[in-house]
Amino acid sequence: MKQSTIFTKTTKTAPREEESQNAILLTRSGFVHKEMAGVYTILPLGLRVFKKIEAIIRQEMNAIGGQELLMPSLHPKENWEKTGRWEGLDNLFRFTSFYTKQDYALGATHEEIVVPLAKNHIASYRDLPQYVYQIQNKFRDEKRAKSGILRGREFFMKDLYSFHKDEQDLDAYYEKAKDSYKKIFEKAGIGGSTYLTFASGGTFAKYSHEFQTLCEAGEDIIYLCEKCRVAVNEEIIKDQSSCPECGSKDLEKKKAVEVGNIFKLKTKYSEPFNLTYKDEAGENHLVQMGCYGIGLNRLMGTIVEVFHDDKGMIWPESVAPFKLHLLSLEGTSEEADKLYEELSQKGIEALYDDRENQSAGEKLADADLIGIPWRVVVSKKTLEQQSAEIKRRGEKETKLVKIADLSTSIHA
Ligand code: ATP
Ligand code: MG
Repeated sequence: MKQSTIFTKTTKTAPREEESQNAILLTRSGFVHKEMAGVYTILPLGLRVFKKIEAIIRQEMNAIGGQELLMPSLHPKENWEKTGRWEGLDNLFRFTSFYTKQDYALGATHEEIVVPLAKNHIASYRDLPQYVYQIQNKFRDEKRAKSGILRGREFFMKDLYSFHKDEQDLDAYYEKAKDSYKKIFEKAGIGGSTYLTFASGGTFAKYSHEFQTLCEAGEDIIYLCEKCRVAVNEEIIKDQSSCPECGSKDLEKKKAVEVGNIFKLKTKYSEPFNLTYKDEAGENHLVQMGCYGIGLNRLMGTIVEVFHDDKGMIWPESVAPFKLHLLSLEGTSEEADKLYEELSQKGIEALYDDRENQSAGEKLADADLIGIPWRVVVSKKTLEQQSAEIKRRGEKETKLVKIADLSTSIHA
């Protein structure tokens, strides 16, 4: 993509009301735009990252048998009354239709849709287990929305719902989901700072599990056992003051962001909707359920919180908007154009800074801000040696590489 044609422009300063690093950097670089508190447009550059995150998640969900569907955002009041959450969920957006005078909720989560939906398709033990998921926008009337895209009033979530004949089957799938979440966060580059965290299990299960990523912007406090690489959420630390794996009391208090959450719902939602199945003997049982969420905007924001410096973002290669940022400095457009064509033909995703009115300093500063993994600078000086200067974002060292050898150097 040619930088001269991008819909957005970079800015030197961030909007005054933005406090968090993720919002400041993502806004300055033209990845997102704040429409109002907690509501963001994802711009073309940001959407490239978002789509990569989405692809990582989708691949892992499919690998554990997830079938993708898409449920509506507009929900009937009756479903939410059945679970007691029309009144009970304080961050549910509710409103009345002007024409029909009917009440609706904007989906904050989808148990109220997926459980009645499953009633149409689950009747017998032969219909179980089932796993469905979606990647879809949620609406929550969050009290505070000051953490940039970490906490939105509208945001995208991957939510998977599993249906089982008994707790044993639910438990086994829950462990699979745990492993799959570990893979997702590793692939997204934050595996090293993300901890499986024991959290409250609600009324049904002893624990739920969160995936918490260490960072200063985090709104949660966790106590971690570095040896076992697990943590306990502060909300249950009174009941669980030692490491649940090794029993150590030597836990470290840290700030973290909850990037994902898995929960054994058991029969909490199958009961109000009477979602049952018949066993081999023809006897009725409530279906056992689990739910598994990941916030996509939050994950994207967390990656920025973890990987940035005072100059800008430092994208892990797996989610970077482009693999390579080609900068053409003054008087090199002919050679740089050619190189860009070659890279494109080889299938290397490149952002090409072909802008004519920007100084070298401005181009280099923008490259640092945008944070693409490889920076390739073509200048008159490098061309004297038929070369380009390559540098990894986040590292100081630069290297002069023959233009003919460029793609192999980048792949290595
Ligand atoms: P939190 O405790 O942070 O309010 P939650 O426990 O209510 O989140 P869940 O209902 O479990 O969150 O949602 C699943 C995932 O969706 C969370 O792990 C998080 O990654 C994401 N998420 C939840 N609320 C938001 C939000 N307001 N903005 C962005 N992502 C969110
Ligand atoms: Mg939570």
